[in-house]
Amino acid sequence: MQNWDIDRSDTAARQWVHEAIRKVEADANRSADTHLIRLELPSLKGVDLYLKDESTHPTGSLKHRLARSLFLYGLVNGQIGPGTTVIESSSGSTAVSEAYFARLLGLRFIAVIPRGTSQEKIELIERQGGTCHFVDEPGAVYAESARLAVETGGHYLDQFTHAERVTDWRGNNNIADSIFAQMAMERHPVPAWVVVSAGTGGTAATIGRYVRYRCKDTRVAVADPENSAFFPGWRDGDPAAVTSAPSRIEGIGRNRVEPSFVPGVVDRMIAVPDGASVAMKRALEPILGRSVGPSTGTNLVATLQIAREMEAAGQEGSLVTLLCDSGDRYRLTYDDDAWLGECGVRVAEHEESVRGLLGERPR
Ligand SMILES: *Cc1c(COP(=O)(O)O)cnc(C)c1O
Repeated sequence: MQNWDIDRSDTAARQWVHEAIRKVEADANRSADTHLIRLELPSLKGVDLYLKDESTHPTGSLKHRLARSLFLYGLVNGQIGPGTTVIESSSGSTAVSEAYFARLLGLRFIAVIPRGTSQEKIELIERQGGTCHFVDEPGAVYAESARLAVETGGHYLDQFTHAERVTDWRGNNNIADSIFAQMAMERHPVPAWVVVSAGTGGTAATIGRYVRYRCKDTRVAVADPENSAFFPGWRDGDPAAVTSAPSRIEGIGRNRVEPSFVPGVVDRMIAVPDGASVAMKRALEPILGRSVGPSTGTNLVATLQIAREMEAAGQEGSLVTLLCDSGDRYRLTYDDDAWLGECGVRVAEHEESVRGLLGERPR
């Protein structure tokens, strides 16, 4: 008689996982929620604007939430255990946050990133204890990550596939739950639109599913930079859409429609010129009194476009968008006109329209 009973339970490994989950949850328990900032624009009358400030997470961007969720998912799936090397394909910020959680759990972390990622981000990854592994072609990050996972016997977190499923969209203190709770005492507590941009598409998926599940009338708009496949893929219903030139707005815009981008939750997409994103980033900074990353500029261009449409149509309401990360990460890039010029990002020609969106008088 064959033995059809195989017991692979491992008490020590299970205890390690329990302890790992406790550490990740304890990190969340020590962390405060991020602020929802009211952005006052004197020229805007009936429409209230809010910025969800994701720069204040311990690792400085909205990717802190994603990294926490990816680690928890890997732990409960039995994919991350004692001694697992953790690997990610990342354009930067996700790796910074994941290196933080890997260190929290005493695990080795390797970020597979395109050459050309900002030096500031590379240093941030290394400061969190991570190692950077470079590829020449941005499109090569996926296969190289999978290869490294096999080589090391490690686990590829794969944000671009798993971001949409690792966050519980029903609530449980996700970003959507947090936004709606923080809006509760506002003049228009249910936003007309939430405007995000897409890197993995995970944030759009979480918010889009949440508003439907909670039966809110809120619509979800995605602002997309140049050279991104998300816009044509969504417009044409073509998940195979691709683009070739890399996105020039760090953190958002991809050359393929990432598996984690869920088109059905997106009500509207707005293509934003890269020069306008950077012009808006720069124009916003003195208003807010702090620096922001370029994707926040992208978000705000689209948000103000909707605000001005609502105003023109005599509609009142609230709009929420994200401050994704601080500008501190981009001092050597987006704050440098020579660098922007080399990349072909034309900021000056968008300054006028950005001033118009912000309601400032033309100079
Ligand atoms: C990842 C990222 C985004 C987009 O968020 P996703 O949930 O991945 O779509 C926007 N801005 C910055 C700076 C990011 O790092």
